[in-house]
Amino acid sequence: MTDHKIKIATTSLAGCFGCHMSFLDMDEKLAILSEYIEFNRSPFTDIKHCEPSDIGLIEGGVCTAENVHVLREFRTHCRILVAVGACAITGGVPAMRNYFDLRDCLEEAYLHGAGITNPQIPNDTELPLLLDKVYPVGDVVKIDYFLPGCPPPADAFLQLLLPLLDGKAPQMTGEKLHYD
Ligand code: SF4
Repeated sequence: MTDHKIKIATTSLAGCFGCHMSFLDMDEKLAILSEYIEFNRSPFTDIKHCEPSDIGLIEGGVCTAENVHVLREFRTHCRILVAVGACAITGGVPAMRNYFDLRDCLEEAYLHGAGITNPQIPNDTELPLLLDKVYPVGDVVKIDYFLPGCPPPADAFLQLLLPLLDGKAPQMTGEKLHYD
């Protein structure tokens, strides 16, 4: 094990937080890991900006200009960047909107969808600008490792992190990885 704590940053872009929940599924192993890791920017800490970190875990694809900004910040500050889950790797479920025109998606969601009582497309300037499509994170920045699954199982996160604690490269192969 290293004599200093591994610093980890995580974020969810266009994702459902299921990958983060799977991370928490390590349960009691998390308590052991916490002796060797610490979190920087993450939903677990509510730190707003990514500072220099050993590893960045990215959940979700890229669907807004803000997602691009966050992803680039992670790439700048994380020595190793990992695309976690199907959404980050391929765009996943959010990328289903890529089969439709963005305007049609907005109109269906906010004007013509079932149960809408005050139809209007949100246009507050504080809202992140939607991109034309949902992109895999690898289309925007260089990714070092891909952790597949929807979500990846908790043991796959361990497989990623344990070699790092020994100062070795993560081993991202084998039966703990799955692709559904
Ligand atoms: S890969 Fe699956 S669990 Fe992870 S953010 Fe996407 S939909 Fe959610």
